[in-house]
Amino acid sequence: MPTVVFILGGGHSGSTLLGMILGTNKDATCLGEFKHIDSVLIKDKLKKVQKSGYCSTCGNHCRVWDTFPREGNPFVNADRVFGSEFLVDTSKYLNWFNRCMEDMPFPYKIVRLARDPKDRFGSFRRRRGKLSDEEVYCWVKREAAMTKFLEDKEHIICKYEDFANKRSINKVCEFIGMKYDPSMYNYWEKLHHNMRGNVRTATLIQLKHGLLKPKDMSKTQRLFFEDVGFNVKHIDKSKYLTGSDLRMLKKHGVDKIEAQLGY
Ligand SMILES: [Zn+2]
Repeated sequence: MPTVVFILGGGHSGSTLLGMILGTNKDATCLGEFKHIDSVLIKDKLKKVQKSGYCSTCGNHCRVWDTFPREGNPFVNADRVFGSEFLVDTSKYLNWFNRCMEDMPFPYKIVRLARDPKDRFGSFRRRRGKLSDEEVYCWVKREAAMTKFLEDKEHIICKYEDFANKRSINKVCEFIGMKYDPSMYNYWEKLHHNMRGNVRTATLIQLKHGLLKPKDMSKTQRLFFEDVGFNVKHIDKSKYLTGSDLRMLKKHGVDKIEAQLGY
């Protein structure tokens, strides 16, 4: 019987990277954002919401998800298809987690993903060009709700800054009962079929497995590759925040969440 590992937390915090690192263990499979399973089974629905496709490696033509069973509990199906001891779900949000709990056939573990908010919002700003009140407000609300939800539940907090600097995965492994292997950090060595998630993280897999030629990389993929190459490396993005961004974070009480997450 497999153990399902739920990665919970806010977006833009490295969930795809964490999921892939854990999923690179020989006994594990990373499902990616499994909450999209309904859309994947009704392909046309998903095509409308994501041009780049439902598999972060293969796009809209993926041998894994194209043939994935359509009837029954998706985790039971994932167990049949992958036969792994660990199924890693990087969906992140509570509504999906709660829905899974209604009919959860397997034991599970919760890993709460944390990232220094200044680094997280700096990364956001670098890519989107600006930061909005709404984005910060919603993030604070979600994180506060997550803290409350997890208060009485067994979980481990895993910090992005740690695992993206090749630290702390051994502790997460110990918590979920997985045998730690340092080669897990070379996640691109395994041909993952993550359901959606961060496509830049998948760039290294595509390059390594010949699905993408370096000259065909998009601008964002190139930027990412210039930053990290074939490596797992944290680059602090907090420097991209301006004085008014910092005031906005303070106004919405980001410092309280920082303290809750141990920053
Ligand atoms: Zn695929």
